[in-house]
Amino acid sequence: MHYYTHSDCLLHEMQPGHPERPDRLRSISQHLERSGLLSDVTVVQAAPLDPYLLHLAHQDDYLQRLAELSPNEGWVAVDPNTTMNPHSLRAARCAAGAVHQAVRDVLSGVDRHAFCAVRPPGHHAEANAAMGFCFYNSIAVGACTALSDLQRVAILDFDVHHGNGTVDIFKQRPDVLVCSSFQHPYYPYRHADTVAANIINTPLPAGTGSTAFRAAIERDWLPALERHAPQLILVSAGFDAHTEDPLARLELGDDDFRWITELIVSCANTFCDGRIVSALEGGYDLKALARSVHAHLEVLA
Ligand SMILES: [Zn+2]
Repeated sequence: MHYYTHSDCLLHEMQPGHPERPDRLRSISQHLERSGLLSDVTVVQAAPLDPYLLHLAHQDDYLQRLAELSPNEGWVAVDPNTTMNPHSLRAARCAAGAVHQAVRDVLSGVDRHAFCAVRPPGHHAEANAAMGFCFYNSIAVGACTALSDLQRVAILDFDVHHGNGTVDIFKQRPDVLVCSSFQHPYYPYRHADTVAANIINTPLPAGTGSTAFRAAIERDWLPALERHAPQLILVSAGFDAHTEDPLARLELGDDDFRWITELIVSCANTFCDGRIVSALEGGYDLKALARSVHAHLEVLA
């Protein structure tokens, strides 16, 4: 497995005390180092995305507006819970660049599995809006990168929040299957009612645990994947559906993230020579996040 990251992802900070904080990446890398897993994978310092490639997923006026808002010091709010410091857009370009590079490497046969340990997350960023701690939709950029070589890709999103940005970007793109499981009703309250053959929404009530989660994923995602037969699977890997996570109220455990990763590997082996590019989205309890990422990567590695 190839593991992509960038040290500049640590420079983006929102207000003090914000849950989407640099310590999330530190906690993951420290845990993986201690467990020895990091020495079994190829660690790559990814290059930031060329700015023109952001147009793959976002509108020009949005990108310009965001660049104009970027502060020289302090913070600027772009959404009630999303703020930029002077390094935020650089960090977001590093996150998107990691996914872009991972897709290119996996498609050229460098490796079959890639994980991007990056922040800020991206799946709430719509074509024309930053929100929910997200600026650039990295997984969408990765999907568009892949579609210059492929006809069909799938994005599987098991973050506890609905991947509204990814749905917004691909709702009229039948070549991209988007499957998202999420606590409902809950933030972001957008696009969860989108009806399109390529959009599979799996809403889960607060309190949903392992058994009901697994049954819903098998019921909704497997037939859709069968129909779509993706040539690459991308994963919006959020770990905030963990029962120890402070932001939401699903009740998954470390083993559920192992289970869904095994399911994704099995689908990738069936449809696309095992090719998987996974990128970090949410996950806000530092210990549960590190253990869950470890479970995800043990399967991928
Ligand atoms: Zn989330």
